[in-house]
Amino acid sequence: MEFEWLGPRIADETIELVLVFNEEGSILYGNQTAAAKLEYDRDKLTKCSMSQIFRQDFPNSPDGFITFVKKSMKGVKEMAMYRSNNSCFSVNVRIFPEDGIDAYLLLAEDISAQKNMNMRIRDLKERESENNRARNEFTANVTHELRTPVNGIKGHVLELVEEITDPDHKKTLDIVLSCCDNMLTIINDILDFAKLESGKFVIDEKPFDFHEMMDKVIATHSAAVNKKELHMSVDIDEKIPHKLIGDELRLTQILNNLLSNAIKFTMVGYVNVVAGMTRRVNDEVELFFMVRDSGIGISQKEQDRLFQSFSQVDASITRRFGGTGLGLAITKQLVELMHGDIHVESEKGKGSAFSFSVKLKSEQISDDKQSQVYVNWSEYMKEGEKDNVDRLMQFGEAENKAELKKRMDKLVLSIEMGAWDKAELLASTIKTLVESGGDDLKRQELRMEMAIRKSNYDKSMDMYGKLKDAITEKIGDLWDSE
Ligand code: ADP
Repeated sequence: MEFEWLGPRIADETIELVLVFNEEGSILYGNQTAAAKLEYDRDKLTKCSMSQIFRQDFPNSPDGFITFVKKSMKGVKEMAMYRSNNSCFSVNVRIFPEDGIDAYLLLAEDISAQKNMNMRIRDLKERESENNRARNEFTANVTHELRTPVNGIKGHVLELVEEITDPDHKKTLDIVLSCCDNMLTIINDILDFAKLESGKFVIDEKPFDFHEMMDKVIATHSAAVNKKELHMSVDIDEKIPHKLIGDELRLTQILNNLLSNAIKFTMVGYVNVVAGMTRRVNDEVELFFMVRDSGIGISQKEQDRLFQSFSQVDASITRRFGGTGLGLAITKQLVELMHGDIHVESEKGKGSAFSFSVKLKSEQISDDKQSQVYVNWSEYMKEGEKDNVDRLMQFGEAENKAELKKRMDKLVLSIEMGAWDKAELLASTIKTLVESGGDDLKRQELRMEMAIRKSNYDKSMDMYGKLKDAITEKIGDLWDSE
């Protein structure tokens, strides 16, 4: 054939190891790559036997050798090849019989680099999970140890509160108590997070009264709501059975976290809690919850990393409101442990709506064998949300005039007190109220926001006055009766 001379050339150039051997296991030919990788001179390689090169895979017995060769001829086999210095490396081997002559062709691909890489990756993964385990164990131990002294301090302070009559001292002790509570919340968050991460978290299944639980949750937050003069509304579906079976403590924790965030990040307006039953099949009940607020809101970009651990959407928020950024990460994992999911819908400056579902068991079996799907809550909620935003946005309506005046008054007070963070938040909520009042109002509001951001008292007061005049010009004097 015209190109016959190309055969040995191709065999030499290929990066695979090529060996030709006979039925006795003597090597008849080895290419350049085989000689180099096996560290033999080429002519010495042809004096070797296959059992020398493949010590484990081709035993050195006269009939054993060829039996093994024939077995290896099907597909690709992983084997070990030995170098002249007795070290070995892994290869993927294919063997073909050569027609007409008493010889076999062996092609071997060196996979040692790939195997080493896989081993290193496995090693690194093992080390990482070992590190994570150790870190979580350490965190769990330390936080557990921290809880004891904080509870000790709290207990002693509570005793002192009983004995002390001086109102100033009582006030100081109240501050110590609230510091202890904050610290316990943080410690518990870290402890929960470590437990969730290490997969040691177990969800309880005990009977509880759902409606009583909701009453307790709402009562826990009513003082904070009143203090901030927010409007709190609660819609709980009467169809939800009283007696449910599940983890009351953890469901309470989820709701408490969402509610305390809603209150924390809302300066004016409302907080709304909704609980509905979306599905009931035999003894299984699916509940839907939504916690909405008219607070500072969260931008789309920030929403993406909201449920990750240690993520607070903005570093300045940590300074302003405190917190560890663990609450929502824990909440998401708890919701998932209860076979549900959690979502957020929010717009910067307009408010947020966190909704989640959970599956619980009911003590009373549903009469209906069919799955009952109740309200499509998410659609219903979207409508409600739209109404609320529209209501807040309509500039000049009686209801909003009152709201606008309230916010403007709070704003001037905050500026006077130098409470710049609070003033900035108020300004951003005022923005939503004057937004539909025209570009000049919006521009005026922005100027005021800039001055507040720079903590410039004179400029802020000046801009506040100008915004007040611009509002009066548009819808009459809100401060008429003062
Ligand atoms: P933290 O314990 O620090 O509050 P979370 O995980 O509960 O941590 O919340 C993370 C961040 O998400 C908060 O710091 C805040 O920036 C944002 N966030 C959560 N809830 C709301 C809300 N209702 N309105 C505005 N921002 C929110």
